[in-house]
Amino acid sequence: MFRDAAEQYHQDHRTLQAFTSLLTLVEALATITEQGEHAPHIGAENAPPITLAAAAKSFAEIAQQVLDCKYVGVFALDPPDECQRMLGTSGLSPEDEAILVRDTNQTPLADYVNASAIAQLHNDQVLTLDLKRQPFMTTRSTHGARFRLVAPMMRSGQLIGIFTMAKTDEEYHDLQSAYTPQEMALAKGIARLATQVIEKVRLLQERAESKANEQKLQEATRRYEDCLSTASHELRTPLTTIKGNLQLSQRRISALSKHAEPSTETAQGLQRIEQPLREALQNFGRLERMISELLDYSRIQADKFILRKQDCDLAEIARHVVEEARKADGGRTILLTLPAQEEITIYADKDRISDVLHNYLTNAHKYSPLDRPIEVNVSVEGTLARVSVRDEGAGIEPEEQEHIWERFYRVPGIEVVEQSLADSNLGLGLYLCQEIIELHHGQLGVQSTPGQGSTFWFTLGYS
Ligand code: ADP
Repeated sequence: MFRDAAEQYHQDHRTLQAFTSLLTLVEALATITEQGEHAPHIGAENAPPITLAAAAKSFAEIAQQVLDCKYVGVFALDPPDECQRMLGTSGLSPEDEAILVRDTNQTPLADYVNASAIAQLHNDQVLTLDLKRQPFMTTRSTHGARFRLVAPMMRSGQLIGIFTMAKTDEEYHDLQSAYTPQEMALAKGIARLATQVIEKVRLLQERAESKANEQKLQEATRRYEDCLSTASHELRTPLTTIKGNLQLSQRRISALSKHAEPSTETAQGLQRIEQPLREALQNFGRLERMISELLDYSRIQADKFILRKQDCDLAEIARHVVEEARKADGGRTILLTLPAQEEITIYADKDRISDVLHNYLTNAHKYSPLDRPIEVNVSVEGTLARVSVRDEGAGIEPEEQEHIWERFYRVPGIEVVEQSLADSNLGLGLYLCQEIIELHHGQLGVQSTPGQGSTFWFTLGYS
């Protein structure tokens, strides 16, 4: 009776100790990963917050203390043939650790234990091994600890690693007495925690890597935008000079043409020069619009896009922009409908609102057949003034409609109807329109049915 009670007492005591140990380990585990999360970056600027080796080492040290044993090792098993990779050990001299690394690294689990032992591990069962017998496959250094306990590390039912521990040989003479069921259960629990540590560190590393990638991307974008801004600024001066010279040559040639006898060789020669000059100036206009879009884009990115707001007449803006478009788009029918009232006073940057309407009109012109009309409608609804531009082009698929406002976005498959109409085409026009209207606290959008055309609109507060 006395012996039974004492045995029971010892068992309860060991169970309690096991639970306390597990608790200690859980607390330590939280510290390891918290340290990882908040650890200052060491070395390379974007180094992951904690290395797997460091976490596995700390974990092994804590586990060794908790288990009160001679040696603890944590190994990953790498696919495809479950090659062992030492993650961290505790209790070994540097020499023994080097031997262990040499003996285990890149060694498939099948070279370490036999198939039935591997099956046990896959079944989430703990193994006890005598390093001098089967299922241990090869004779290796035992660093003074012959009896091993190997617990599986499982993730989603898959064996991803092993947790091993060893006690000193002096205390035990055979494998059976080496590890109690409680110790085996405790080792299994600890192996689970080891899996969690590894998983957490892996996630932390992934997060750190994606943060570093994001930073790199941001930096690259910033440099790219800086370069764009500098290039657009730098290009302006030489382009203005070239334009001035082209215009001057054009004026001189037309003056010479006036004085040249018609049908003479000189007159024909001058005509031959006039044509390419006209084309050069046309293309020049396109280049100017690209540069101006890029400059506006850079200003928006740098928060330097300044509006000059004042009271202005929206009807007048529409009339002016439509007139200019009629002149430039020669031959296209552009209909303008204005409300009955003469003036529509809005508080806005007149030039920028003109740019928006101009861009809508240019797009309608670029993306709809030349023989189809474009309708511009200005109306007043309550306290809102509304401007819309309707074309009879190819229209835009519903899933593309939200993307067309993004910078540099161009709908795949939608091409300008005629190459001579190719304008800036950087995919910046609608992005700039959106920025301008938002800065005026207005709204904008598109209604479009593929095959039937599109209506681009914006509204602004009107007083
Ligand atoms: P882009 O300079 O390419 O015209 P925008 O930002 O003005 O750039 O327009 C973005 C894209 O939206 C265009 O590339 C085109 O694919 C599509 N788009 C714009 N307006 C129309 C329209 N009226 N009809 C059909 N597609 C259009």
